[in-house]
Amino acid sequence: MTYDFAIIGAGIVGLATAREILLARPHASIIVLEKEIDVARHQTGHNSGVIHAGVYYAPGSLKARFCREGAQATKAFCADYGIKFETCGKLLVATNEGERAGMEALFERAKQNGIEVKRIDADELARLEPNMTGVGALLIPSTGIVDYKMVAAAFAEIVTSMGGELHLGAEIVAIHEYSDMVEISTTRQSWNAKALIVCAGLQSDRLAKLAGLRINHRIVPFRGEFYTLPKSRAGLINHLIYPIPEPKLPFVGIHLTRTIDGRIIVGPNAVLGFAREGYEKFSFRPQDVLDYVAFPGFWRVIGTHFAAGVEEMRNSLWKQSYLAQCRKYCPDLSLADLEPGVAGIRAQAVLRDGTLVHDFLFAETARMLHVCNAPSPAATSAIPIARMIAEKVLARFEQL
Ligand SMILES: Cc1cc2nc3c(=O)[nH]c(=O)nc-3n(C[C@H](O)[C@H](O)[C@H](O)COP(=O)(O)OP(=O)(O)OC[C@H]3O[C@@H](n4cnc5c(N)ncnc54)[C@H](O)[C@@H]3O)c2cc1C
Repeated sequence: MTYDFAIIGAGIVGLATAREILLARPHASIIVLEKEIDVARHQTGHNSGVIHAGVYYAPGSLKARFCREGAQATKAFCADYGIKFETCGKLLVATNEGERAGMEALFERAKQNGIEVKRIDADELARLEPNMTGVGALLIPSTGIVDYKMVAAAFAEIVTSMGGELHLGAEIVAIHEYSDMVEISTTRQSWNAKALIVCAGLQSDRLAKLAGLRINHRIVPFRGEFYTLPKSRAGLINHLIYPIPEPKLPFVGIHLTRTIDGRIIVGPNAVLGFAREGYEKFSFRPQDVLDYVAFPGFWRVIGTHFAAGVEEMRNSLWKQSYLAQCRKYCPDLSLADLEPGVAGIRAQAVLRDGTLVHDFLFAETARMLHVCNAPSPAATSAIPIARMIAEKVLARFEQL
């Protein structure tokens, strides 16, 4: 049998894409191939669980547009399918006068991106968040929280209930594109499809190369390490608390987040990873490291962001140093409050010239579409990203 569509990757982007295609073409035959034994085992299942509003992103970028649309779409989806979410709002806290300029720039950016934002002074900050300290803050009321594993699982259920197939434990090791179809294989089995969409997150560059694409980037893994606060700290914050981020880096800084299951987590940092899918602290996979050290773009990133990299490494190795980041806005936190938490690993695309790719990145051939970079907030944005991919492949499919 030749499927109409095959999708590699049952993270939130792959599953949302399968759903969008089936919503638009309910009779299409579709198979989702995932190497793990369950959906959402990588980035989708290891993130902060924030429904971002879209403050940070360059106006006019796909990231800005998809985030704004995605936040609304995610909340509407959760409301329709009974998935618990909360619109708790977020505060971006300036901890000293030096950070005010960054705060003002974000205020302007939020307005340009059409997001509701309010400046608040130190007194109002103290009233809203008695345990936080700062010279001022931005309040973003529409930011929310959810468990993206539940969203992904709901997408998977919809896909299979609409006749789509989900094949777990299927690690794709070969892709061959022919003039009339694409052949996709594990070591034991092959499938044919008229069109292939690859949403492989941390493995996206390897699958692109496997499919014969000439790519100009590599995925560099950046670990995001979290701590959990003890139950006794459950009332510490009312909103999500974020620092003013460094604008040149694609990461938003260590924040305090309430989770939908009632915990408070601290993190994530952004430290160079030595394994793409190794979540334990000192995970090391030689091939994963070789892949980036052999890539010139990696060394250019190191050259540009050396100081920030050393700082992140120090924060990762010394809890005291990690704590110091949080104490800038939450002075009351102590070492004992930082209980071991999980880690997530970001798939960060880096170009040969050393550019950290901030926006989404796609690569296409006649019968394939590869999602090469789907950075945060791709969980928030999954529905509009999927809609765009579905429109693209369906328009193409009509001509095939
Ligand atoms: C620490 C951290 C915090 C984050 N916080 C947020 C947040 O608060 N809000 C937000 O919106 N976003 C957040 N993000 C970003 C968000 O989680 C990701 O952008 C999003 O989950 C990407 O989804 P994906 O489907 O592209 O990738 P993934 O979820 O990684 O899925 C890719 C899938 O492809 C599969 N795969 C790979 N290779 C193969 C193969 N050869 N054969 C078969 N299957 C394969 C993998 O097993 C995996 O299941 C965060 C990310 C991290 C790491």
